[in-house]
Amino acid sequence: MSRIVFVNGEFVPYEEARISVMDRGFLFADGIYEVAAVLGGRLVDNDAHLARLVRCLGEIGIENPYPVAEWAQLEEELVKRNGLVEGLVYMEVTRGVWERDFPFPPADVKPTVVMFTQEKSITGSKLAESGAKVITVPDLRWKRRDIKSVALLAQVLAKQEAAKAGVSEAWMVEDGYVTEGGSSTAFIITKDGRIVTRPLSNAILPGITRQAVMRLAEEQGLTLEERLFTVEEALDAAEAFYTSASAFVMPTVEMDGKPIADGKPGPLTRRLRALYLDMAQATNSGKMG
Ligand code: PMP
Repeated sequence: MSRIVFVNGEFVPYEEARISVMDRGFLFADGIYEVAAVLGGRLVDNDAHLARLVRCLGEIGIENPYPVAEWAQLEEELVKRNGLVEGLVYMEVTRGVWERDFPFPPADVKPTVVMFTQEKSITGSKLAESGAKVITVPDLRWKRRDIKSVALLAQVLAKQEAAKAGVSEAWMVEDGYVTEGGSSTAFIITKDGRIVTRPLSNAILPGITRQAVMRLAEEQGLTLEERLFTVEEALDAAEAFYTSASAFVMPTVEMDGKPIADGKPGPLTRRLRALYLDMAQATNSGKMG
C-alpha cells in the first residue's frame, strides 16, 4: 500500500506532497504539532489530543482550520487510507506561506496543515519488557514549553546525546530538577509508593498520556504527588517511568549509567502500563471513559 499523506485539504501520495520553501513552519518553526497513537486501527485518547491541538493553536494565534469533529474524521480517513493498524498519526499546523518576514502574515493567509501516519509497534515493545535507559541533559528550551511547538532543536540535541549514549530518552534538567523527557513526561515512584510527577506549568508540555495515567492511578486509589523532583531523588527512587503517546508507559531502569532500584521494570509501573493498555484497547476515538 503506498503511503498517503494529508496536505492542505487533500490526501495525496507521499511522493507528490509539496510544501512551499516560504512556509513559516520551515522558516521560523512557526507552528505546532500533535501526535496520537493508533491501536487496532483506532485512535487512542484522541479527544484529549485534539483539545491540546486547539489550545496550542490559540496560544500562538493561528486560527484552527477545522472543527474538532472534522479533524477526527480526517485522521480516521488517513489511518484508513494507509491501512494503519498500530502506530502514530502526526499532525502539524503552521502559520502558512508568506514572504519571509517575522510578524504574522495578513489574516487571509491560510495555515498549512500536514498529517501523516507512522507504523510502530507500541503494545509489543521489547523495550517495555526490559525497561528503558535514560541520560540527563540540561534543559535548553524556551519558556513556553506548554505549547507543542515544532521548534524542537533542544530536543533533537538532547535525543542525539541519548542516542550517542545508547539509551532511549534524555531527561531534561533545570535548576537540579527534572522537567520532562525529550518527548515524554517523567515520573518516579518513591519507596513508600507515591507516584511523583512535575505539576503542569509553562515548564513542561501537558502530556495527554500523563493525564490518562494519573486518572487511572487515581481510580486505583494510588497516591499521586505533583511536585518537582531532583535527579538524585530519581536515582534513589523505587521505580521510574516515562509516558508519551508513542511509548505509553515506559519503565525506566537506568539513569546516567546507574540502575534505578534493581534495574528492572518495577511492579507499580508494570501495573500502570497494563492499565493504560487496557484503556487504550477498550476505547476508540471520541469514546474515552
Ligand atoms: N513532553 C514532551 C516534551 C513531549 O514532546 C511529549 C510527546 N509529545 C510529551 C511530554 C508526552 O506527551 P503525550 O503523552 O501527549 O504524548
